[in-house]
Amino acid sequence: MTRVALIAHDEKKPDLIEFARENEDQLLEYELIATGTTGKRLMEETDLEVERKESGPLGGDLMIGAEVAENRLDGIVFLRDPLRAQPHEPDISALLRICDVHDTALATNLASAEFLIEGLAD
Ligand code: PGA
Repeated sequence: MTRVALIAHDEKKPDLIEFARENEDQLLEYELIATGTTGKRLMEETDLEVERKESGPLGGDLMIGAEVAENRLDGIVFLRDPLRAQPHEPDISALLRICDVHDTALATNLASAEFLIEGLAD
């Protein structure tokens, strides 16, 4: 089954929730994982089932990166906040890097997220 990770920094969580609602039919077809707070909000505010990892600052990004390293993930939507430095920036960079190492699809904004979700459907 197609397995997709969803992550959003705090300022971007409303955008991710809206994206998930708009693409709910498609996302229901996928196995979903998310960082802790993102996953909690997705489950509260949509009908999606999400496997929650730790919160990002507590290692959730690295847990998702580990799945990439194991070739378990087909794609990641990671809506980052480009305006604020995050305390766990090294973990975020590690996740982006491992996606490039394994050529795993990664969308960091809504426009590319649309392509990713549509692309995985094909
Ligand atoms: P969160 O983590 O979903 O637990 O807020 C996201 C992140 O900061 O990478």
